[in-house]
Amino acid sequence: CGIVGYIGHREAYPIILKGLKRLEYRGYDSAGIALYDGNDIQLSKTKGKVVDLEERLEKEISTSGNIGIGHTRWATHGIPNDVNSHPHYSNSGNLVIIHNGIIENYESLKKELSNRGYTFNSDTDTEVLVNLIEDVKTKENVKLGKAVQTALNQTVGAYAIAVFDREKPDEIVVARLGSPLAIGVGDDEFFIASDASPFIEYTKNAIYLEDGEMAIVRRGKDVKIRKIHDDSLVDPYLQELQ
Ligand code: GLU
Repeated sequence: CGIVGYIGHREAYPIILKGLKRLEYRGYDSAGIALYDGNDIQLSKTKGKVVDLEERLEKEISTSGNIGIGHTRWATHGIPNDVNSHPHYSNSGNLVIIHNGIIENYESLKKELSNRGYTFNSDTDTEVLVNLIEDVKTKENVKLGKAVQTALNQTVGAYAIAVFDREKPDEIVVARLGSPLAIGVGDDEFFIASDASPFIEYTKNAIYLEDGEMAIVRRGKDVKIRKIHDDSLVDPYLQELQ
């Protein structure tokens, strides 16, 4: 399973597609990509291989855009099928998420969200998480980063996630606990991936998130890293890749 993301000035799709191919060695059963085309989110996903996604996606959606996320899934909650594949939307359609790992308390969270009117298309724990983030964001009227942090503090489990918001498509929020996540730092551009292989050809500068950390990567800004649990800021440790 793997995650890839890009925000910057290049076309995101070819970077993400190639990145997913580089992460195939990690094993997976489905794949999907969401892109922001300047106006709306374009999303395509499928059970099967990255080449199956490539074939389907290029017929289904427009591939232009400078921000996007891609995922290879290794199913834990819900069988491998198209609907359970990532990315997943929140109910409003504004938030889109990719996730590697397991949200162990997803059932009780799902029940609470259902009582508050949320509905679910898939059987995944991931779709519960993205709606929890949306619920916090609307209820507490906070920014995406804060909503992700508050939501994650209500979860038990393991994750590497990347989320972005159609209404504020200049940033991607990422977080990790128990699943790897690296950020490639380029010139006014950022790459996100499970390991550095998807972005090593574009930049030699990487930040490896530690367990329990989250980061906001925003166009034209430095990476902001904090600890999910106590909200303390962490100095980004930039490593030079060989
Ligand atoms: N638990 C999630 C799912 O089953 C993510 C699986 C993964 O790590 O790819 O959809």
